[in-house]
Amino acid sequence: MSPDTDHRIAVVPGSYDPVTNGHLDIIKRAAGLFDEVVVAVVNQSVRKSTAMFTIDERIGFIQDALAEAGVTNVRVDPFYELVVAYARRIGAQAIVKGLRQISDFEYEMEMGHLNRQQAPEIESIFVMASPRYAFLSSSWVKELARFDGQIDELVPAPVAKLLGERVAAQRAAAD
Ligand code: ADP
Repeated sequence: MSPDTDHRIAVVPGSYDPVTNGHLDIIKRAAGLFDEVVVAVVNQSVRKSTAMFTIDERIGFIQDALAEAGVTNVRVDPFYELVVAYARRIGAQAIVKGLRQISDFEYEMEMGHLNRQQAPEIESIFVMASPRYAFLSSSWVKELARFDGQIDELVPAPVAKLLGERVAAQRAAAD
């Protein structure tokens, strides 16, 4: 699909296992910049271990949080291919990524160059994390939950609830 310059679409990819308030902040800010945002949820990521939540759970969490926030120009879809191939297929002009710190920058820079080599017409746009979420990642949220840490301000309420249940079930299975 060739990009339509009157209708600008950005892809915001990630594993979202689970979505955090930091991800939602980036998604909402991208929604303010583009006509349409597609949150692309990767089913299996090469850099991550097995997901804690199923693809449907991860998509549902994002959809519910955006509906509650009244964001209407964002849809959430699974994807199974290279991000650039997906972006091209849906006619997107850009890929938006959040940057928390230097470690993100190093990784994203490599990936951004590779993506550019694969699909020069698709722009990578990097959005600085809001300071209050600059320390926040899905893996830390899961780690906190495993040790009964306070996560209510870090993820949407339904995520905190299901995460608590999942961790309790894992604990019971290990006993
Ligand atoms: P994570 O790195 O938390 O496991 P993902 O793989 O789902 O998350 O990341 C998807 C994108 O979201 C990446 O560009 C990542 O840098 C960004 N991101 C993750 N957490 C935050 C945050 N707290 N603030 C801004 N961007 C973030």
